[in-house]
Amino acid sequence: MTQDFTRLKTLQELDSDLKTLRDNLEEVPKRIKHLQDETARAESALATVQGDITEHKKQYKLADVELKAAEEKIATYSVQLYSAKTNEQYKAFLKEIETQKKTKQGIEDRMIVLMEESEALERQRVSVEKTHSELKADSEKKVKSLEEEKAELEAAIAEREKHRAEVLDGLDSQLLKLYERIRAKKSGIAVVVASDGKCQGCFNPVPAQRVLEIARQDRVYTCEACGRILLPDDK
Ligand SMILES: [Zn+2]
Repeated sequence: MTQDFTRLKTLQELDSDLKTLRDNLEEVPKRIKHLQDETARAESALATVQGDITEHKKQYKLADVELKAAEEKIATYSVQLYSAKTNEQYKAFLKEIETQKKTKQGIEDRMIVLMEESEALERQRVSVEKTHSELKADSEKKVKSLEEEKAELEAAIAEREKHRAEVLDGLDSQLLKLYERIRAKKSGIAVVVASDGKCQGCFNPVPAQRVLEIARQDRVYTCEACGRILLPDDK
């Protein structure tokens, strides 16, 4: 019986370890995805700024074309001004020149705004690019270490599974059934020690007489409160 209890205790340790290891392993892909999502967001922010810069350049070029057209019109009307036959014609050309000058001024004002905005966007791009490249490098490093962690977890799980199979080999089948039944109901913990007069699973008191009986390890005792298998404290 003592032999079985020793196996049972080891089994519980292995199963608790396995639960922790498997939970951690399950978290790895989620953590990798979180890092990748973060990088993708930074990438998209960078693409947005780059798109805005391109659009501003396009608008500036268009404005420049409009500016040249206005200048050409002013030049044309200025020449025509001298060939005006009547006073009305002369006034009409003057009015056209005025209109084109106003248009030109409007375009120039817009170009200044576009230029200022472009400069601001360029500064923004530098900062966003820096954030993105730092984040990307950091993320790649973290993903690499998570992949290493994954391999380590898998190795630790395999090692414990092998050990578990060895422990199961020769363990009393009734005891194993009891263990599995309690473990399923009691969130993975079926075997606990009775120490300081308490069940260390639920912390309800265990009578002194029972503690002595448990120490003999000649039969299975379970906690009257939580139903877990009680083992003596080795310490
Ligand atoms: Zn208990």
